[in-house]
Amino acid sequence: MVVDLPDISVNAKLAPMADCEHSWMCHGEILALDTILDNWLGPTLALLHCAACGNPALLHLVSWRGNGLAERIYAIRLVDPMARNTYLTNINRDYCDLTRKASETEALISACSQSARLVLITGPEMIVEAFSRNLFNPPVMDWQDVKTETYESWLEFLPT
Ligand SMILES: [Zn+2]
Repeated sequence: MVVDLPDISVNAKLAPMADCEHSWMCHGEILALDTILDNWLGPTLALLHCAACGNPALLHLVSWRGNGLAERIYAIRLVDPMARNTYLTNINRDYCDLTRKASETEALISACSQSARLVLITGPEMIVEAFSRNLFNPPVMDWQDVKTETYESWLEFLPT
């Protein structure tokens, strides 16, 4: 008699993942970033993963304000694990080639979900203060283009 245990264990692991709310949907959660891709007084573009289900995600800055720009609204988008791994392999191999790095980052962004959760994070500890119930699709932009003026209007979507 053959008992197909591996299949059973895979199903058991996948089932809760589909229902996962993800760890950034939690007040007081400290976000652990895997790779910081860009930063200004703190991360502005980074890879992280859900502490509960392990799904990788991209975090990008939407707006900011405050002392040292420590109050930050980010968007978090799920990313395909394969695309994330390919990206990390490629940028590590061609780290000195900045043009290549930029095009790899673009490929990574295009492999992300079109819908994002908004989170309000305070730094430098990266604590989740609030998160959006709805999904949004704010543009991924360089931190140089991120405005403080839009902060209040984004904040409306982040009930505390
Ligand atoms: Zn999750």
